[in-house]
Amino acid sequence: NDILVSVDHLKKYFPVKGLKGPGVRAVEDISLFIRRGETLGLVGESGCGKTTLGRTILQLHDPTSGKIVYDGETIFEGENPWVTEADGTLKQIKVPKPKQVNMLPYRRKMQIIFQDPSASLDPRMTVGEIIGEALDIHKLYSSKNDRNDRIKELLGKVGLNTEHANRYPHEFSGGQQQRVGIARALAVNPEFIVCDEPISALDVSIQSQVVNMLEDMQEEMGLTYLFIAHDLSVVRHISNRIGVMYLGNMMELAESYELNRNPIHPYTKTLLSAVPVPDPQLSRTRQRIILEGDIPSPMNPPTGCKFHTRCPYATDKCRKEVPEFKEHAPEHWAACHMLG
Ligand code: SF4
Repeated sequence: NDILVSVDHLKKYFPVKGLKGPGVRAVEDISLFIRRGETLGLVGESGCGKTTLGRTILQLHDPTSGKIVYDGETIFEGENPWVTEADGTLKQIKVPKPKQVNMLPYRRKMQIIFQDPSASLDPRMTVGEIIGEALDIHKLYSSKNDRNDRIKELLGKVGLNTEHANRYPHEFSGGQQQRVGIARALAVNPEFIVCDEPISALDVSIQSQVVNMLEDMQEEMGLTYLFIAHDLSVVRHISNRIGVMYLGNMMELAESYELNRNPIHPYTKTLLSAVPVPDPQLSRTRQRIILEGDIPSPMNPPTGCKFHTRCPYATDKCRKEVPEFKEHAPEHWAACHMLG
């Protein structure tokens, strides 16, 4: 089986205190799979739910409903507690408690690299202690010396010196801090890593170094990535396939080259029109499309296709019916009524 991670109709809603209803509908009915050793890029404007999706797959957030399968094992399965009434409002119904496994063994296999390394590293711990803590949780050494050797080896892997082990995070630059974050994720020999905008807080000059390092690690350790970014230009070079999210929904998902050359969803076309293209033939055919209006609130999203309030092709059907996310060409999925 070459699929390492799959999710089926995954939802994540965050209830809002004092408010009736499901609250913030951050992830809405997402289905996708990630093949072993591939990088699936995930893009969309901020607030589209891409980070929540990554964290919900890792169960750092409890999923609301749907199914998550990791390496053939179902690690979460729960029924949808929200049904849509005739007037479009959501009503909560009683459903059985979801099935959830003990995540500790999976915590080792599934790791995350955070967006802001300065916020994700404990300022009171030395770099050696931060990496050592990850080794301690999963008891991944045979002796104290073995533990120290492992810490040094990891620092070397991410391009830091062994003397750095005794320093504190604030003594490092942003790029070096992110290297520590990567070393911490790699410490437990993971298989799958959610890279949650790992370069957006970094200086442009060092972004490519960190991306190259992640690519080298992937090759060396056979890693599988879910690579989240708000910018298509970042993910299109490193991803085998790319998913495009809008307001909690997946709008389009395709092989990277195909998505860049032949986007079929109006929202993807808008995003791509903002990315400069080096190919003069493509740039002649690609006009910049500016979207009208702001992203609606995920607490009160539009009915039907969530993109209809900003889509230049929206029809009555778009306002009423949710388009199905389906395969329109081999390995090319999209959710749009216009595509049939
Ligand atoms: Fe636009 Fe309608 Fe397609 Fe949504 S379903 S993207 S509103 S054409």
